[in-house]
Amino acid sequence: MTNVTELFGSMVFNDRKMQERLPRTTYKALKKTIKNGEPLDISVANAVANAMKEWAVEMGCTHYTHWFQPMTGITAEKHDSFIYPAEDGQIIMEFSGKELIKGEPDASSFPSGGIRATFEARGYTTWDPTSPAFIRDKTLYIPTAFCSYTGEVLDKKTPLLRSMERLSNVATELLHLLGKNDVTRVTTTVGPEQEYFLIDKKMYDQRPDLIFTGRTLFGAPAPKGQELEDHYFGSIKTRVAAFMNELDEELWKLGVMAKTKHNEVAPSQHELAPIFATSNIATDHNELTMEVMKKTAEKHGLVCLLHEKPFAGVNGSGKHNNWSISTNTGENLLDPGKNPENNIQFQLFLAAIVKAVHEYQDLLRLTVASAGNDHRLGANEAPPAIISMYLGDDLGALVDSIINGTDYRSNGKSEMLTGVDVLPDFKKDSSDRNRTSPFAFTGNKFEFRALGSSLNIACPNYMLNTMVADELAQFYDELKNADDLEAAEKAIIKRTLTEHKNIIFNGDNYSDEWVKEAERRGLCNYRSLPEAMAHYVDKKNVDLFVRNGIVTEAEIHARYEIELETYSKQLRIEALTMIDMAEKNITPAVISFVSKLSDAAIAKKQLSASYSVYAETKLIEELSEDLESFVKKTAELKEAANNASLYKDDQLKLALYYRNTVFALMGELRALGDAMETKTSAAYWPYPSYAEILFGV
Ligand code: ADP
Ligand code: MG
Repeated sequence: MTNVTELFGSMVFNDRKMQERLPRTTYKALKKTIKNGEPLDISVANAVANAMKEWAVEMGCTHYTHWFQPMTGITAEKHDSFIYPAEDGQIIMEFSGKELIKGEPDASSFPSGGIRATFEARGYTTWDPTSPAFIRDKTLYIPTAFCSYTGEVLDKKTPLLRSMERLSNVATELLHLLGKNDVTRVTTTVGPEQEYFLIDKKMYDQRPDLIFTGRTLFGAPAPKGQELEDHYFGSIKTRVAAFMNELDEELWKLGVMAKTKHNEVAPSQHELAPIFATSNIATDHNELTMEVMKKTAEKHGLVCLLHEKPFAGVNGSGKHNNWSISTNTGENLLDPGKNPENNIQFQLFLAAIVKAVHEYQDLLRLTVASAGNDHRLGANEAPPAIISMYLGDDLGALVDSIINGTDYRSNGKSEMLTGVDVLPDFKKDSSDRNRTSPFAFTGNKFEFRALGSSLNIACPNYMLNTMVADELAQFYDELKNADDLEAAEKAIIKRTLTEHKNIIFNGDNYSDEWVKEAERRGLCNYRSLPEAMAHYVDKKNVDLFVRNGIVTEAEIHARYEIELETYSKQLRIEALTMIDMAEKNITPAVISFVSKLSDAAIAKKQLSASYSVYAETKLIEELSEDLESFVKKTAELKEAANNASLYKDDQLKLALYYRNTVFALMGELRALGDAMETKTSAAYWPYPSYAEILFGV
């Protein structure tokens, strides 16, 4: 039996270990940095580094690494050993405060969006003391931020930390104005629910598309998909359960509060949800979770797919970013309380969020855009590409009453009568869920549901924090000089909700009517990454980030370039992989099968002219026609991929070309290939089928 309380955090240099191992004054100084964001002294860093090293060496570590989140979409690490030369050719194990605080990875090979010429290769990583160090594979991991020699931000963590700080400052100021003088810090919290697929490694190894692109580029539908709805919350198979148990244990050791696990809608699809943490720690933990998922799967002969759409025709994977704001005094600022109609503070925060989501809906859309997520948003399974907010019946009624100046009546929490004596009755939630909304209020937090499964959650969260901070700052500026504070607050709330109510939509987001209605309301509907990303550099968005001190204009342009470039590269890899699969395996396989059919027909006729060769000739005829189209389409795709170089000087044009031309041809080629798969003998088809992959575990 696993002792979970002992296991939990055993690989983390957490608060308890710091208390045990650090001198009292050092511990206090470090806590001040962590809790209040105060700068750190080098003597403190030296003491912390030494304590960390001693603990790590006791735990069998030989190396340490600065762990960071460059713009690649995955984390990066470079390992250094603790060895240090001593007398007589001996060594000692050393780790200084300087090494803890600052690392110097070569920055030239990380994307910078042209911000830094490659000859200026120097980059720095800086210790983030607010996220605890941990041990993996005999190495001490130190969470760090990453910037260039000239100080440009090259990672995802720095803007997140800045946005948290900014939101904390403006929210605290506002709360002081409202009389909450004991509040000294406000923190954003996040609980990311993570979806993933788990397939057999033997199948994976036979699919170059999965290996190179993370998704299947060919594959006819299996006879059974998710239509029986028998997988969601279904009983977990033994092999998957073994994986999940080990995953939980590995995550617990790393201090990740893995809480909920279940089967998801699609066959082979599952979900893991942790208990929420600060945005920063939640981000680090989510990155760790994805990495540990992949490594643990391997140990079980499985592969964990984090791509947003590994299989056409079955549900893809997303990530739900549950987000809230709370004070250091323990108050959740998004909790409406018993009487939201009298809770001016809650109404102010709600109004700020409504205004932020309305004004910066394009940012929320583009922050979840990726080549993978383009397959989900707008298709009939994920929230649409239109950003709107769901408030539920209660809050919806409250907002209406504020706008119209009428009385508010809550539904209240009614008693749920189970009708069976042995089952306890319980209080129902005051409103139902809306599973179709991209941004839904869920009692005391918002659930941003449009994220793709592989996304680093730092980006959506720094966007969210920044836009809300900006609105709160505007409220504060207006309120600080008000003669009658309460009247001014009420006026702001009423005005804001009235002006921005168009972003609120409580109906079915998947319906066609909503697309039309949203258009009437003037909401954005960007169906793909290039369309959405084009707005990253709109003046209002650049101004937002610059005004709040999150990233500079040059850094935004760099991020924009990187996103577009990555998108084009991913689509290019997909196109080339498809061409390769088509030319080297699919076409030859169909030719072999057709030739086998012809041999069979000829042999039959030689035996007796009266034998029917109807089946053989019909198949030969059909497959020959299909194959001709397939080969021609492959050539078209090849030419289109070659022509991409014409657009190489403009990342936006290039991305649009890949989307509108290359991607469209890939869809056509796939349809032809899949049609041939359904007619070709399985013995000849070069790749495992959807049925084998999706039902193989
Ligand atoms: P569902 O699947 O119904 O959306 P879950 O219970 O699986 O809900 O997930 C809800 C997530 O929201 C969990 O990760 C939980 O920790 C998180 N959460 C709860 N309260 C907060 C909060 N105040 N701030 C951020 N996240 C929260
Ligand atoms: Mg959810």
